[in-house]
Amino acid sequence: MADVVIVGGGPVGTGLAIELGQRGIHTILVERYPSPQQVPKGQNLTQRTMEHFHFWGAEKQLRAARTVPKEYGIGGLTAYGSLLGDYHYDWLQRELVRPYYFTENERLPQYRTEEVLRERVRELPAVELFYGWTGRDVRQDEDGVTVTIASRDGSEQRSLSAAYAVGCDGSRSVIREKAGITQTKSDHDRLMVLLVFRSTGLHELLKRFPGKSFYNVLHPDLKGYWQFFGRVDLGKTWFFHAPVPPGTTKDNFDFAGYLHHAVGAEFDIEFEHVGFWDLRIATADSYRNGRIFIAGDAAHSHPPYGGYGINTGFEDARNLGWKLAATLEGWGGERLLDSYDMERRPVFISTARDFIGKAIESDRAFLEAFDPARDRPAFEAEWQARGSGARAEVNAFEPNYRGSPVIWGDFEGMPNAIGGHELRAKAGHHLPPQMLSSGRNVYEELGPGFTLLAFKASPALLDDFRIGAERLDLPLKIVADDSDEARSAYKARYVLVRPDQFVAWAEEDETSSALSILLRCQGRSETYDMTRHLKRSEADALKTLNPNA
Ligand SMILES: Cc1cc2nc3c(=O)[nH]c(=O)nc-3n(C[C@H](O)[C@H](O)[C@H](O)COP(=O)(O)OP(=O)(O)OC[C@H]3O[C@@H](n4cnc5c(N)ncnc54)[C@H](O)[C@@H]3O)c2cc1C
Repeated sequence: MADVVIVGGGPVGTGLAIELGQRGIHTILVERYPSPQQVPKGQNLTQRTMEHFHFWGAEKQLRAARTVPKEYGIGGLTAYGSLLGDYHYDWLQRELVRPYYFTENERLPQYRTEEVLRERVRELPAVELFYGWTGRDVRQDEDGVTVTIASRDGSEQRSLSAAYAVGCDGSRSVIREKAGITQTKSDHDRLMVLLVFRSTGLHELLKRFPGKSFYNVLHPDLKGYWQFFGRVDLGKTWFFHAPVPPGTTKDNFDFAGYLHHAVGAEFDIEFEHVGFWDLRIATADSYRNGRIFIAGDAAHSHPPYGGYGINTGFEDARNLGWKLAATLEGWGGERLLDSYDMERRPVFISTARDFIGKAIESDRAFLEAFDPARDRPAFEAEWQARGSGARAEVNAFEPNYRGSPVIWGDFEGMPNAIGGHELRAKAGHHLPPQMLSSGRNVYEELGPGFTLLAFKASPALLDDFRIGAERLDLPLKIVADDSDEARSAYKARYVLVRPDQFVAWAEEDETSSALSILLRCQGRSETYDMTRHLKRSEADALKTLNPNA
């Protein structure tokens, strides 16, 4: 019997298998395709996603798999009317938030990312790979799950037993359906085309925008839906997605004419792929049913606007991975697993509402209200303002777990995608990097379990944490340092960091009890109460562990 069966070995399933495999958790990964599908899809990898690759031991390999040379740049722009029209501004300048992450962002076709992940997962002895097998069914009882899989030609069938199952099988997830998890959909009722094509002429035309790798064209006819171009490599291959009329097929539409119109010029085109998808936002109504979890597109799917999909999925994998491992290793409370849904689902709901949906609505409102042919000065003023607004959006997207039951602090707020980047260490937020007096970055010191960063700390408090962690079997690394700079940037003498680099607790003074904090963070059931009367139950739990508390 395995610990975890993952169905779906796309980016998210393979990332999760690496997370679990590195922790020595016996994992089976089932993927129907022997090799990744050659469709570019999720290209934009944020700084945070690259931190995952760093911890998965695959950052260097991923950067080496890039298809556009580093010197060329991976920026984007938004244009009005047509790509070569008079108006454009820089779009989603992710470099603006670079100081708040340990690693730089990256951009490459999704199949290259998947190839790197597949190579890495092959190195992990704790992970068994079933490539060329399809997950058909999942059942659960008190003791575990049984996943039925079939070989692709259907000639062979097997049953796999494990303690937990995770569906990472994409937006049409069989595991989600078999687990009885419903979805809420907001249907934009748009048919979208995805074209992959070769063109050297387009590269020549776009030389006027050096360093740009993706391009978004807003056109008044399309009511806020985008015409989106991206480079697959430098100078030859491109992808494009945009709305098409209902009923469009490969054979009844002039795709070349559509592309020429979107660019505003004619150029050579040789199609490699023509595919379609329905534009909608779908969110699972729960990310868990008992021993079955879902992650990535199986849990949330949406248009690729803003490039949130693959990045959100990877964060699901990091969040769920350590919690599953903690539970299987016996130090994570059962309620720790519930916190996966409680942290990740509200973050996606906010991403969909406050970033993806809002982008479509605000573009639509702008295109309706402003038109250079009608009132050029008003249009130009608004266009300039939107350019600055694009910067604000990059800063505001900061998924955080404020109000999570396994984060220490007051219980105001809900996990959310709207935040703001700061160097301060804040409970529930991503840990910003800092240099320590040793000359090493905090990120190079973090352990696989929890890490306590303690700047000029009181020895008594460090003892409390050490003894508390031993008593609770919680893996804790203590990093004691005397850097005034790091402490002042963090605005905290003590920072407790989770295995996924989110801050669990941060304080300047020693006002909270170490044992209470650790109990909360490991999600023990007696410390957890959905109605948020947490303090009293924590005190009760403390008494059972420490009669003198
Ligand atoms: C045109 C386009 C552009 C995009 N651009 C971006 C972008 O710039 N940035 C971004 O973040 N995201 C982008 N996305 C979204 C991104 O591609 C997805 O969010 C991402 O692929 C989700 O990964 P996943 O592993 O959850 O699911 P998937 O990639 O769908 O992987 C699911 C895997 O499960 C396998 N599978 C399915 N069912 C079974 C089964 N029953 N048994 C076994 N295996 C199964 C499939 O073969 C597949 O390998 C884009 C998507 C599209 C279509």
